[in-house]
Amino acid sequence: MKFPAFKYLRPSSVAEAAAQLAEHGDDARLLAGGQTLMPVLAMRLAEPEVLIDLGRIENLRGIALEDDALRLGAMTRYVDLERSALVAEHAPLITRALPYVAHVAIRNRGTIGGSVALADPAAEMPACMLALGAEIELTSTEGNRWIAAEDYFLGLYETAREDTEILTAIRIPLAPERRVGFYEVARRHGDYALAGAAAVGDVEDGRIQGLRVAMFGCDDLPVLAKTAAKAAETGVLDGAWLEADVSPTSNINGEAHIRLAQARVAFRRAVTDLLGVSNG
Ligand SMILES: Cc1cc2nc3c(=O)[nH]c(=O)nc-3n(C[C@H](O)[C@H](O)[C@H](O)COP(=O)(O)OP(=O)(O)OC[C@H]3O[C@@H](n4cnc5c(N)ncnc54)[C@H](O)[C@@H]3O)c2cc1C
Repeated sequence: MKFPAFKYLRPSSVAEAAAQLAEHGDDARLLAGGQTLMPVLAMRLAEPEVLIDLGRIENLRGIALEDDALRLGAMTRYVDLERSALVAEHAPLITRALPYVAHVAIRNRGTIGGSVALADPAAEMPACMLALGAEIELTSTEGNRWIAAEDYFLGLYETAREDTEILTAIRIPLAPERRVGFYEVARRHGDYALAGAAAVGDVEDGRIQGLRVAMFGCDDLPVLAKTAAKAAETGVLDGAWLEADVSPTSNINGEAHIRLAQARVAFRRAVTDLLGVSNG
């Protein structure tokens, strides 16, 4: 199908984009890499009157090391993160997870901000942000605010971002000793996950401490598996307590008990991955 007709705006600054968003409100959509929005428009699942293309705003792109955090501009493409030595050194969970995000062609255009703004429950990057304890910057004509990933994801494609706010950056706290682990169950490599887990934590004398495991593809939103992580810190690695954290329902991908079993596999393998691989 063809796109619906829309007015196309190409602001060159965040302030200009925020003003356009404030002016057009619900009638406008922000365009990042277009890897979700373009198919949505082509299928006429949304018919915005105005498209605000963020592609010309240079300072929305880039990866920078700050005093205590790694800062990712919202318009930084997956491919740039994948190839970044800074990301590999300071946020290796992202480097590890990116090859599982769709396919090369999509990673060439898709952006970290687009993924976190969309908040697909089966997407890899939102779960990584949750596991890493990232903060998300939202900017509007009123100014900017930072919100913790734990408070940002609210439900199915639902976030704490107001319609008038642009996701402008993500900050990942530095934690040099932190190890990472990642695993996802998918029908084919590059498909959205049926169940996945992104883990970070410290290991001392073979014991895990400060474990954070974000589950994705299991619920309406990425979820920190706090109970199962506590159990894993005492040596119970198999995700036996996972049903206290996630509640997969029966859907097109399988019955609830099968989806829970897949979640347990993802949890166990991500934690085992973390134990076996030093990224410190
Ligand atoms: C065949 C296929 C397979 C895929 N497989 C996967 C997969 O396995 N895992 C995965 O995670 N993703 C997958 N995707 C989705 C892909 O990762 C998208 O690129 C991503 O979800 C959205 O990023 P984008 O930059 O393309 O955003 P866009 O498509 O441009 O935008 C997506 C949404 O976010 C909003 N938005 C974008 N940027 C901002 C911003 N800065 N501030 C506020 N709102 C914003 C837009 O208005 C729109 O509503 C797949 C896509 C396709 C087509």
